[in-house]
Amino acid sequence: MTAVPDDEACVTQCILEARARLEKALQTSKRNADSAQVLAVSKTKPATLVRAAWQSGQRAFGENYLQEALDKQQALSDLTDIEWHFIGPIQSNKTRAIAEHFAWVHTVEREKIARRLSEQRPDELGALDVCLQVNISGEASKAGVAPQELLALAETVIALPGLRLRGLMAIPAPCAADASETERRAPFRQLRELLEQLQTRFPAASYPQARLDTLSMGMSADLEAAVAEGATLVRLGTAIFGARDYSHVH
Ligand SMILES: *Cc1c(COP(=O)(O)O)cnc(C)c1O
Repeated sequence: MTAVPDDEACVTQCILEARARLEKALQTSKRNADSAQVLAVSKTKPATLVRAAWQSGQRAFGENYLQEALDKQQALSDLTDIEWHFIGPIQSNKTRAIAEHFAWVHTVEREKIARRLSEQRPDELGALDVCLQVNISGEASKAGVAPQELLALAETVIALPGLRLRGLMAIPAPCAADASETERRAPFRQLRELLEQLQTRFPAASYPQARLDTLSMGMSADLEAAVAEGATLVRLGTAIFGARDYSHVH
């Protein structure tokens, strides 16, 4: 896939529209304008488009596939203030590169992976910011820790010196087209309530190594429902970069 100048102009425009959309959703929920941020999900998209988004002021980018992300980081190594978030499934043989090349990981769902990321995080980078991915819709095939196992995993992660537990992430099952607002919001509400449980169980005064301030939820199709339930980081791919074409990448 090659980027033509048109694509880059489009990304610039789409970044502005995405910000306006988030701003409006925050206003509707009577939330502060700075209480949620956009994570631009650039998987399958070329480095030229990431650069265009960066030029429009976007700094945080989400990637799902390690090798593709490393290639883009290389191509964009002159952008020193860019912030890379890993948001894909994690195999244990990839933890070292993830710990070395990302600021955040949203998809921690197992103790073994958490331990490896912590051990392999280079000291000079400081703690790796992580979210625990929760299997909110309860589908057997979906990734994420089951809600009833969340507390135990959180306790383990908080004790790991290379990690800083920031909050929770989920990818709920898509809603039916005619779903009500309550139905659309239900999984996001569930994730918010789980974060509130963690905040109660691990108060900042006793657990200064954690910083439970993040709800990574909401994508291009469901940003509004997620923001209404307290999302602090919305992960937007299609809304910023257009539809994805996987045929050339994987
Ligand atoms: C691809 C992806 C996104 C972006 O999805 P869009 O519907 O394109 O906005 C967000 N989160 C995760 C984990 C993804 O894999």
